[in-house]
Amino acid sequence: MLGVSREDWRGTKGATERVVNEVAQGLRTLEDGTAWFSLLSQAERKAVLQEVASYAMQAHITAADGSAGVARSGVKPTANASVMICMDPPRYGFAGLPAEEHINAFRVLVATFSVADTRRRQTYCTGGCGHSWHNLSTPGERP
Ligand SMILES: [Zn+2]
Repeated sequence: MLGVSREDWRGTKGATERVVNEVAQGLRTLEDGTAWFSLLSQAERKAVLQEVASYAMQAHITAADGSAGVARSGVKPTANASVMICMDPPRYGFAGLPAEEHINAFRVLVATFSVADTRRRQTYCTGGCGHSWHNLSTPGERP
């Protein structure tokens, strides 16, 4: 657990990309990322869900990734977010879910993105790549 400082992270441009990719690359726990998310306002949460959904789309997640992500996320498979991510093709309207389901949606989305992005890092990106989000500095450092 690295801890999250509201002042450090809240609303800063690039924070979503950083938190999500740190979780995907094992530099930050999903609990830690969720703690960050839970500090955001409702409007900010919606924006973050849309951004993470776009990463998941770019990572070409599959229904199998969705199942693996749900298992990792700790969210019940019957939750709306879990059902949506496991559809083929997945549904991405997470920001439209009721506010009390946003934390579930964040956990499911980030966990599923992690599955797909890990596969990409271990195949396409092995030996180095030009994806800025695969070349993060260690947590705490700022470029
Ligand atoms: Zn890469």
